[in-house]
Amino acid sequence: MNLILMGLPGAGKGTQAEKIVEKYQIPHISTGDMFRLAIKEGTELGNKAKSFMDKGELVPDEVTIGIVRERLSKDDCKKGFLLDGFPRTVAQAQALEDLLTDMEQSLDYVLHVDVPKDDLVKRLTGRRICPDCGATYHVIYNPPKQEGICDKDGATLIQRKDDQPETVSKRLEVNLEQTQPMLDFYRDKGYLVSINGSQEISKVFQDIDDKLGELA
Ligand SMILES: [Zn+2]
Repeated sequence: MNLILMGLPGAGKGTQAEKIVEKYQIPHISTGDMFRLAIKEGTELGNKAKSFMDKGELVPDEVTIGIVRERLSKDDCKKGFLLDGFPRTVAQAQALEDLLTDMEQSLDYVLHVDVPKDDLVKRLTGRRICPDCGATYHVIYNPPKQEGICDKDGATLIQRKDDQPETVSKRLEVNLEQTQPMLDFYRDKGYLVSINGSQEISKVFQDIDDKLGELA
């Protein structure tokens, strides 16, 4: 099964990726891993990518696509793959379509773990840090025993600027704007499957699993 996993930060994409990979035994391919592997193996494209990264420049699409092709051609992708973080643009999505056609393959689903922005803001602003020992908490998922106080040393917990609602909201907004054209692209192609990511983790996976079961 050839899959793409999409979702905004905080939507729980990583957790679902782990579950999909474990159950269906396909590799989880993130953009970062793909580049690291190509660079480590010293392939021509890996070296090319590295030369751009070393200069702090964006890796051009043709190089990125080449690296994707190399990765998807590896033996562990025989049963399929779960792409995560690629494609990032409609141009890359179109290039991936062409690449898969060329490999006599196609996507099965683009799974979009969908969580309303307000819920994401709630999730992403819940983190609290201890300024003394660095321990991290979350007001919903991992609260300290006493509100606002570090369990280990009694220090008053703080919220990082990055985790403050305004910053988080802005970051999500930018992300949404970048993601929307790709969602539209994949909806038009008939690959898009929206998964309600506001449910419990196990229920989210159940919905994904039901959908993937149709491919088995
Ligand atoms: Zn502490």
